Amino acid sequence: MPEPKRRLLVTNALPYANGAIHLGHLVGYVQADIWVRHQRMHGHTVHYVCADDTHGTPIMLSAEKAGVTPEQLIARMNREHARDFRGFHVEFDNYYTTHSEENRELAYDIYRKLKAKGLIAVRTIEQLYDPVKGMFLPDRFVKGECPKCGAKDQYGDSCEVCGSTYAATDLKNPYSVVSNAKPVLKASEHYFFKLTECVEFLRRWTQAPGHLQPEALNKMKEWLGEPGENKLSDWDISRDAPYFGFEIPDAPGKYFYVWLDAPIGYLASFKNYCAKQKLDFDGFLRDAGTEMVHFIGKDILYFHALFWPAMVANAGYKTPDAVHANGFLTVNGEKMSKSRGTFITAESYLQLGLNPEWLRYYYAAKSNGTMEDLDLSLDDFVARVNSDLIGKYINIASRCAGFLTKYFDGELSLPDPSSHDGKNLIHGATATGQLLKELYRQRDFSKALRDTMAAADRLNVAINDARPWDLARDDSKRKQLHEVCSTAIHGFYALSIWLAPVLPETARRVAREFFGLKRDFVWEDLKVLPARINPYTHLMTRIDPKQIDALIEANKESLQAAPVQHSAQRHAQHQEQTVETIPSATIAIEDFAKVDLRVARIVKAEHVEGAEKLLKLTLDLGGPTRTVFAGIKSAYDPAQLEGRLTVMVANLAPRKMKFGLSEGMVLAASDAEGKTAGIYLLSPDSGAQAGMRVK
Ligand SMILES: [Zn+2]
Repeated sequence: MPEPKRRLLVTNALPYANGAIHLGHLVGYVQADIWVRHQRMHGHTVHYVCADDTHGTPIMLSAEKAGVTPEQLIARMNREHARDFRGFHVEFDNYYTTHSEENRELAYDIYRKLKAKGLIAVRTIEQLYDPVKGMFLPDRFVKGECPKCGAKDQYGDSCEVCGSTYAATDLKNPYSVVSNAKPVLKASEHYFFKLTECVEFLRRWTQAPGHLQPEALNKMKEWLGEPGENKLSDWDISRDAPYFGFEIPDAPGKYFYVWLDAPIGYLASFKNYCAKQKLDFDGFLRDAGTEMVHFIGKDILYFHALFWPAMVANAGYKTPDAVHANGFLTVNGEKMSKSRGTFITAESYLQLGLNPEWLRYYYAAKSNGTMEDLDLSLDDFVARVNSDLIGKYINIASRCAGFLTKYFDGELSLPDPSSHDGKNLIHGATATGQLLKELYRQRDFSKALRDTMAAADRLNVAINDARPWDLARDDSKRKQLHEVCSTAIHGFYALSIWLAPVLPETARRVAREFFGLKRDFVWEDLKVLPARINPYTHLMTRIDPKQIDALIEANKESLQAAPVQHSAQRHAQHQEQTVETIPSATIAIEDFAKVDLRVARIVKAEHVEGAEKLLKLTLDLGGPTRTVFAGIKSAYDPAQLEGRLTVMVANLAPRKMKFGLSEGMVLAASDAEGKTAGIYLLSPDSGAQAGMRVK
């Protein structure tokens, strides 16, 4: 009996239009894309949309800093993001923007319906205000001393030294990150969505089967409290001008908080797509059979499992049928880091010629459908891709296809479909296909790929035992050679179909170029054995570990050229520009000993023609001198530096920079921005000599 066809609207979390796509983002996009491709291979209807999230204070200020309009900034980011997703074969039907007329109309409609239901309240609140810049300050734009431990330069919501959380108004000696001015308290009217009145609905929605992963549901129970309890508060959905976003209807100078219109952007992107494709937007969403599925990062669960369903349900729109949250990415077991070169952009990965399917495969092999974090261990990445994809999968075709082309003109020996062998082949492919289909559906890609590779292992053992390369030397064994190689290629055919959601580009080439199909694979193809092949052409190369070294190098920001700064790991960038947490993970003494720190005398310091941040330093280490380019121009006049002592990393690999070769690095302290609090070059106490080892 054919299964009923699903009708799906699938969305991915909207990346914030304030930074490049990096490998951390890609976890969630690759997972969703694999799931969508799997659904499509079974003939289900899927509309897969995404957009840039474009509103809010950070965008406004970034544009200002770059000397462009917010519209120009977000147009550029949109092009870059769309390019990066395409590069990793994340194939949205529509990639749009939240700064669109469709989104404005939908946001207004939802807001007006909530208001008509009495779910919008207006209250006066007091907030920190920057009197110089003339704007209210989000928590992440205020810094000061932690009220608990006194650490300096902590953000307005939490202390990165002692970990405590507090209100921005509790900071001691607060200052505005925007202007350095001392903020003042100022009252303003804010608009609130009465989330407190949605508790019973949310209890039902979150507990409905399939809506949330078990871990997410537990979080929700924590947030919602016990039945009868109400732990939620109303949600502040307005921000005062100046703000880049949609002005609230009938409320001049008040704007929707970016998180109000961001998820509405899913619908706006779909609406824009429907108009282009002549699809019925309202009809599709109204249909009882339609499922709306959101793929998100676990950091934005609160917005998608509470605010969003409560909003759409009360405005008479379709509520989500599932919210799938993914964990964060760590690289080599640690948080991504610019100084370690593990904060890797999608663009650098592609530009260095690394194959996007390697990463898709690795992410899939580590994705089990839960909210657990995923570790990209770079050595394991190289080992696993080379062993599984090249050594097990590609190897089958590259070893056996040549004999079929050379001796049999590409014809495959087909067992009689009613014979034992024939039944076994088809049965094996479809039975495993049935198991894998279920694993893909549950998003347990990890188990799906383990089972796939186990099948590839069995096939390789069979090929090794049959030794086609020996059979080929004996004219009397042609029939046996034909059967052995044909079976191997039939196995390769099934593996290619099973892997197609993960390796779409390779599967496309295998289907069209190798097996001569006029289309891409569908799952049903498992039931039909191919009768011939075209000559095998190279499908995929191994990873050379040197490519990984180059990738790390390309993403390494030296401390002096740009002080370490992180954008938030994933999507919650609206409020956050988090700084690398101090202290970092511990290292062994042996690791520290690898760094050759030396006292150096600055014998010459010069401006560099055309360089905004750099000074060229000539350093004496008690022997030959070294040239180092240091990003300290904003803090030091070259004349002051000449003759003084500092500390340098003497065994850093020389780095080719635009202005010349930098042969090391001098040590300087700075805050995240390297601006508000200045840059401070390290110096030893008096008496130290150039060349002395620091340990
Ligand atoms: Zn503290």
